[in-house]
Amino acid sequence: MGNDGLPLYPQVYRPQGPTKMDQKEFQSAQPSPPMPVQAMLLGPENTMTVCQFCRASIKTAVRYTTTARTHTAAALWGILCCLCCVPYAANSAKNSDHYCPNCQRYLGTYVK
Ligand SMILES: [Zn+2]
Repeated sequence: MGNDGLPLYPQVYRPQGPTKMDQKEFQSAQPSPPMPVQAMLLGPENTMTVCQFCRASIKTAVRYTTTARTHTAAALWGILCCLCCVPYAANSAKNSDHYCPNCQRYLGTYVK
């Protein structure tokens, strides 16, 4: 009496190990936060954008870096007429590295 037809099974044993392992694997399988695609928004000059790190609306600080092409051009110029300083003076053969003036983080590079 008092039994509504339910079998009186003992409490089901649930192993904890595999469950915890599954949770851990699931968490570690989460992808790292994707990098925002900002390269296409960055131009050769200072660019208005929103910093992906500090979320501030900023105008990027640009630092020009010489590329292999710059050195090649310098070598050619040096051979031709010893004006190796000409390509270094022009920014046309340099990449533009954009930095956030607010948090000083590197945002991306505009490649010529
Ligand atoms: Zn920033």
